[in-house]
Amino acid sequence: MKGSLLIRGGRVIDPASRLDAKADLYIKDGRIEAVQQGGGLAVPEGTASFDASGLVVSPGFVDLHAHLREPGQEHKETIATGTRAAAKGGFTTVCAMPNTVPAQDSRSTIEFVQSRAADTGAVRVLVVSAVSKGRAGKELVEMAELAKLGVVGYSDDGSPVGDAQMMRHALAFSRMLGLPIMDHCEDTALCHGGVMNEGRVATRLGLRGMPVAGEETMVARNLILSKLTGGHVHICHLSAAGSVEQVRRAKAQGIRVTAEATPHHLTLTDELVTAGAMYDTNTKVNPPLRTAADVEAVLQGLREGVIEAIATDHAPHAAEDKLCEYDQAAFGISGFETAMGSLLSLVHTGKLTFPVLIERLTLGPARIIAREKDGIGALRPGAPGDVAVTDPDLSWTVDAKAFLSKGKNSPLNGKTLKGKVVATVYGGALIYQEQRQATTRGR
Ligand SMILES: [Zn+2]
Repeated sequence: MKGSLLIRGGRVIDPASRLDAKADLYIKDGRIEAVQQGGGLAVPEGTASFDASGLVVSPGFVDLHAHLREPGQEHKETIATGTRAAAKGGFTTVCAMPNTVPAQDSRSTIEFVQSRAADTGAVRVLVVSAVSKGRAGKELVEMAELAKLGVVGYSDDGSPVGDAQMMRHALAFSRMLGLPIMDHCEDTALCHGGVMNEGRVATRLGLRGMPVAGEETMVARNLILSKLTGGHVHICHLSAAGSVEQVRRAKAQGIRVTAEATPHHLTLTDELVTAGAMYDTNTKVNPPLRTAADVEAVLQGLREGVIEAIATDHAPHAAEDKLCEYDQAAFGISGFETAMGSLLSLVHTGKLTFPVLIERLTLGPARIIAREKDGIGALRPGAPGDVAVTDPDLSWTVDAKAFLSKGKNSPLNGKTLKGKVVATVYGGALIYQEQRQATTRGR
């Protein structure tokens, strides 16, 4: 696993060291050894090298929010398939959310996921513990004991922490442990039965809506409880303009809050639910795709740093979970393999700079889970040799059937994207490389 590699001639973007320049990058024995602006770095003879001319070289991406489905739903995904899909998307660190079966809420389940990741994972898997036992919302997990196992945060994701008193206690513990409570902000009573964003499109389609207020009310409660306890609340998959504004104001008041947004909430709207005559169940996601005004507000929050991280909320499902009526379909998008391609549309249209995009995929998320101290999300000497190499101009057509993830549920299937991760390095080893189509080689 511990490899040595010279990555030559790329545009190296490392927000941690404020570097954006043509440079050579040398990884030795699995760790970053040297970065040399302008190139021409001398390395020992026989060192493997990768020509990155015309490509962007960055730290491997850090995903705060992914569903690897193991244990319990291996027909949807396993740690092996999920981490290979992650690697294809440029992610070298993924945080496994706890809504597995059983939930990641105890020493035994967390150690199981950690050992499966060590045995079968292609990239680093960090574990997010549940907040409550069985994610049932009744009793807190043994937060301090599980912190010793190296969990990076606590979440009942899939569900909110519904009980405000439990959230208060969890935040009070989180303050002592230095780890975030990562909440799926949804008032389940307001959103009950909803399948898409409440609004004009839902009304036209005759589908039950989930109001933005369902998210905003829980964000408000969480900010109030964070202020009360001093605990770190992390807002998962923030989707509504009103939530962005609340987080912005809370930060200005010094409340300990961070937030993430997904590629789909940054690029897609509820209009996509019915692009043609059919409703596309692959657009069904929770929180739902919102309006263009919400997308613009979330993007503005990302640009400003009100939102520090982009997280995929990779949520693979089996075909039968989506080949059904919209009302019945499961929520979720298989997101690892299209994340960079869709996010680059924001760079190509001038809505986001490349360095800010990279920062929100690397150092921003690493800081939220307090792992930047280990060098995760940065290219400084001594940091893990984790690198994503992106071709920003490569046009490609999404073919969900070709995903390495077991989940083929993508609303982008068949769409053409501009830009793609073409190589991923983990611990100095080239673990993914784009197969160039050999179109000129005869047949
Ligand atoms: Zn969620």
